[in-house]
Amino acid sequence: MDLLAKLAPIAERHARIKALGSDAVGVVNEKLLSPTRAIIDGRETILAGTNNYMGITFDAECIAAGQKALAEYGTGTTGSRIANGSFALHRDLEREFAAFLDRKHCIVFTTGYQANLGMMSGLAGPRDTIYLDADSHSSIYDGCTLSGAKLVRFRHNDAADLDKRLARGEADEGGGRLVVLEGIYSMMGDRAPLADFIAVKKKHGFQLLVDEAHSFGVLGPHGRGLADEAGLEKDVDFVVGTFSKSVGAIGGFGAGDHPYFEMLRYAMRPYMFTASSSPASIATSIAAIRKLAAEPQRRRKLAENSARLFHGFRDLGLELGCNEVSPVVAVRCPDEPSTIAMWNALLKAGVYVNIALPPGTPNKLCLLRCSVSAAHSDADIDRIIELFGAVVAQGHGKKVVNG
Ligand code: PMP
Repeated sequence: MDLLAKLAPIAERHARIKALGSDAVGVVNEKLLSPTRAIIDGRETILAGTNNYMGITFDAECIAAGQKALAEYGTGTTGSRIANGSFALHRDLEREFAAFLDRKHCIVFTTGYQANLGMMSGLAGPRDTIYLDADSHSSIYDGCTLSGAKLVRFRHNDAADLDKRLARGEADEGGGRLVVLEGIYSMMGDRAPLADFIAVKKKHGFQLLVDEAHSFGVLGPHGRGLADEAGLEKDVDFVVGTFSKSVGAIGGFGAGDHPYFEMLRYAMRPYMFTASSSPASIATSIAAIRKLAAEPQRRRKLAENSARLFHGFRDLGLELGCNEVSPVVAVRCPDEPSTIAMWNALLKAGVYVNIALPPGTPNKLCLLRCSVSAAHSDADIDRIIELFGAVVAQGHGKKVVNG
């Protein structure tokens, strides 16, 4: 039996998508011109699907910090921090992130994906129960699997549903209970109603983790995320985030105030059994976090750009992922073929967005997902709106009118 035979349906679907134009899941940026511009298929293209929220990837100080670290520490760490020890840079980064987050402890991981795998499996074990929002990112689901904890899914953003499941004691065997939320949900751009969940926390008593991957750097007076925006950080026990979005590098973090938090380092396989991130990446993350702290205007510009795109799309009559302004702006499309056709037409016209199709989307939706950057100009945002308008008008996608 050929082990790869089961991939035949994936191969067929991939071929079908490619036959309709460019490879929607294999786009190559032939040359990067800036945080918001690349050459794709030989054409200069506006990037509107990169999660480069702060537009920081070409910042001169971040690049210089990375180059200095390459020269001083070399190209790689060649092992895990448990086996090989840490570089001073790792500790510097953890100290700076803990200070930025106003948390006692911070542990840095090689990717944001591993941060979720590590935190979930370090915090919860087979006797414990993890309550997950149904729309949680795959890294949260995978972390749950790795932990061996019992999994209870509650309806997306529905604190009353969580309350009901906790009251029933679903899957409860007397272990601990961890509830996991996201600051901004990556596909639809909506925020968790944190105050509602914290009311349920006060009633039932559980530990709460918020993945601020898409909200870190973006929301709140300090740029720490949704809990910062909502003024509810003291009620959140653990924060997870990534360096691959607002920080413009690669890596992830978990943070908290628990006195045993540091011991998680010796209990998280995705931290212990993988090489730590490269010196250049760590150093650029340190430089980036200093920028985020010193330049709140980036956050303000991102908010302005997000509002401009959101209202522009609304005026076109497009149905969006959520009804609140967010740097993630998803356009709901009628079906898979029209979504692929619209995506190709947009790319040809010079704008790259993410295509998101089932099973990777909530409620089997077909989406064209934009992520806004502080580095987009007003003219960029207007051009994205104009091109979406033109593509819809050409009939590539049936116009979906706001309900
Ligand atoms: N959490 C969420 C909510 C995400 O959207 C992502 C990535 N898109 C991750 C974690 C993983 O982060 P990374 O890509 O840095 O591994």
